[in-house]
Formats: sequence, C-alpha cells, structure tokens
Amino acid sequence: MQKAFKVTLIPSHNQEVLINKTIGCARFVYNRFLALRQELYTTEQKTLNYNACSQQLTLLKKEIECLKQVDKFALQNSLKNLEIADKNFFADLKKSKNKKGVGFPKFKKKHGCKQSYKTNLTNGNIQVIENRLKLPKLGWVKFHKSQDIAGHVVNVTITRTSSGKYIASILCETELEKYPQVTRNIGLDLGIKSYLVTSDGEVVDNPKYYRTQKRKLRKANKKLSRSVKGSNNRVKAKIKLAQIYERITNLRDEFLHKLSTRLIKENSIICIEYLRVANMVKNHKLALSITDASWSKFTTMLEYKAIWHDRIVQKIGTFYPSSQTCNSCGFINPLVKDLKLREWTCPSCSNYNLRDKNAALNILSEGLRILTAKSGGINTAGVSPATPRLFKTAAVGAPDAITACGELVSPEVIQAQIVEAGIA
Ligand SMILES: [Zn+2]
Repeated sequence: MQKAFKVTLIPSHNQEVLINKTIGCARFVYNRFLALRQELYTTEQKTLNYNACSQQLTLLKKEIECLKQVDKFALQNSLKNLEIADKNFFADLKKSKNKKGVGFPKFKKKHGCKQSYKTNLTNGNIQVIENRLKLPKLGWVKFHKSQDIAGHVVNVTITRTSSGKYIASILCETELEKYPQVTRNIGLDLGIKSYLVTSDGEVVDNPKYYRTQKRKLRKANKKLSRSVKGSNNRVKAKIKLAQIYERITNLRDEFLHKLSTRLIKENSIICIEYLRVANMVKNHKLALSITDASWSKFTTMLEYKAIWHDRIVQKIGTFYPSSQTCNSCGFINPLVKDLKLREWTCPSCSNYNLRDKNAALNILSEGLRILTAKSGGINTAGVSPATPRLFKTAAVGAPDAITACGELVSPEVIQAQIVEAGIA
C-alpha cells in the first residue's frame, strides 16, 4: 500500500530559489507542450503522445539553458500530467452530455493555481534521514519532523502554498496493519446542527471552523481590498489571507480524518446517506454551513479507509424518507418534514423518536436491507464479523495511496489532485 507523508520544508535561500525555478520550468514545459498539442489537434486532428513530447523536450533543453539546471524528473512528470489531462479530456468527450466535466486541459497560471512539481526515485536520488530530505539537484533539505516516515520512497511532490510555505509530500510504499474485525454496524445521519448523529445516539458536534474564523477572514479581506495594487502591503495581505484559509483547511481535515478513522475502527458496516451536496449548496442560506461541513470529503475518507480495513460503507439514496419514518413501526409522519421538529411521538406506535437518531437508525436498516438484497438474501439481522466479505462489492472506491498527513486516498482523488496540481 502507498502512503504519503506531508512535511513542511525549511529550504535555504538557494534551495528556495531553485525550487521556484523548478516549479516555473515544470509549468513552462506543461504550457509549451499543451499549446503544441492544441495546435496539432485543431490543424490536423492529431495528438502528440508522451514519447514524442519527451523527444522534443530533449531538443528544447539545448535551446533553453534553465531547463538543464532543474530536476529532469519534474519536467518529465509535467509531460506525463499533460498526457493524463489529455486522456481525461478525450475520455470525457465520449461520455453523455450531463456527465461531462473535464474540458480541454487548461494552461497553468503563475498565480492562483497550485504551484508544484513531482520528482521520482531513481538510484537513491531521494533519501530521508532524520529531519532531512535529499532531493535531486537540491541536495539535503531540512524539514519540520512531526512523524516517522516509514517505507520505501516512490516519489515526492513539492508544493509552494499560497502563503509561501514549501510542503513535500513523500509517497512511500508501506505495509498497512489492518484493524481487528468488529461486529458493530452503524448508521450515520449527517447534519448541520450536529456534524453527525449515529444510530447509537452519539452526537458529534460540528466544529464550523469556517464560521469561527469568519471575523479573521473578514478583517484580512478588508485589508487586502484596501491595499494598493502592486504594493508590498498587498503581498502581505494576500499571504495573511492565504494563511487563514490554510489553517481552516488543516483543522477541518484533521477533524475529518480523526472522525472517519475512529468510525472505521469501531464498526464493520457503516450506512450513510448519499447527499447531493452540489444541489444543496445552491441554497445560499445553507451553503456556508454545508461547504464548511465538507460531507463529500468525509464520505470519501470513509470509503477508502473501509477498503483498507475490510469494512463496508453503504450509501442510501436521498429519496429515502429517513427522517419521517418511525424506526419502530415504519409509520411515515409527514409532519417531520418541518426541520424545526427535533423530537416526536409516533402517532401509530407511540414510540418517542429523537429526530436525528431515528433517521440514523433508518439509514442503518435501509443500508443493511440493500446489502442483503445485493448478496442475494442473506440475513443481516446478525451480521457476523466474517459477513462483510460477502458484501465486498458494496464498498466503493479503490484506494492505493494516501495524501499528506499520512492518510490514504482513493485513486480518483489522487488523479484529481495530480490533474489539479498540473505539474505535480
Ligand atoms: Zn411508530
């Protein structure tokens, strides 16, 4: 299994200059060959593959001096990323209209998008000893050590964040120790008031990092808008704003990782409502809370961690009336559509229902019902620890690598990150 360890680099001045140069060259190569591909496609409907690009790059290096000074793997990876972006575009063309989303590969900008490059291990050019990382051309770079980096290095992605930090994501091939099998199954009701409520009645509060940092964000935004274009103060204001955003993201990711890891550890089957977040975000009142809650990220984490530890994540469709149905007798109470109604007594069986817990219980039974149907009528009433294997197909996503902070990520996510990073 592959796992990525994220560390903050402490480069010397010369190293910093070279990292920036490498990022710049990687972007230059990406854009140059994208333009070439575009031209060839529009004039002759032909594509230029990686090998052809690579040959041309060798020629280009003779003309442009700085391309020789930087890590050659960074430039090759730019071409590989371009190849991936191109393939995604052509694959997308074949899809039905409403599923399209990729579009023609875009040019990398100097500002605004992720600034990074990726380098690969060849003949010991990358090494980690204590708090120092050896990288091609850069030599030994110090970093802040927060965790042990275990396994064999596969590649390293170096990113400059908007706030000017240098982050190395070190991808390693490593052994994963699976969590012991458990028998407990759980249903999760995701919400805004609480982040989630489980079918056991546990309430996990929503940390709302975005909201708590709102004042700081507003202040930083004000400073930025008041600063003069091109001034030093404007640069400072931009960095300050980026720092706040980075902090929010880091805090939120940490919360999501801790929560998803715990739920995977404690449960065998996790049933969760499939939320159409994109549709919900259109409702502006709820939008801020929802983007802050980042449910889809959370669901993705559950899914890939489930595969690693032989757990099952079963999604439930949104059409399922999880809140309105009484879990005790199945009576559907239309009055519960009112979001303000937090608890209710069932008119049919007089069971007292807490809104969220009742919904979580329904999500659990619906999830188990779907799994039973899928596996051809196995009784899920008492799912044994071994049973999850029968439901293997139910688990989604196929994780084989991790992001920074040593967490695992599904290939699609990685793919998306690579494409997003452009040069990654
Ligand atoms: Zn009832």
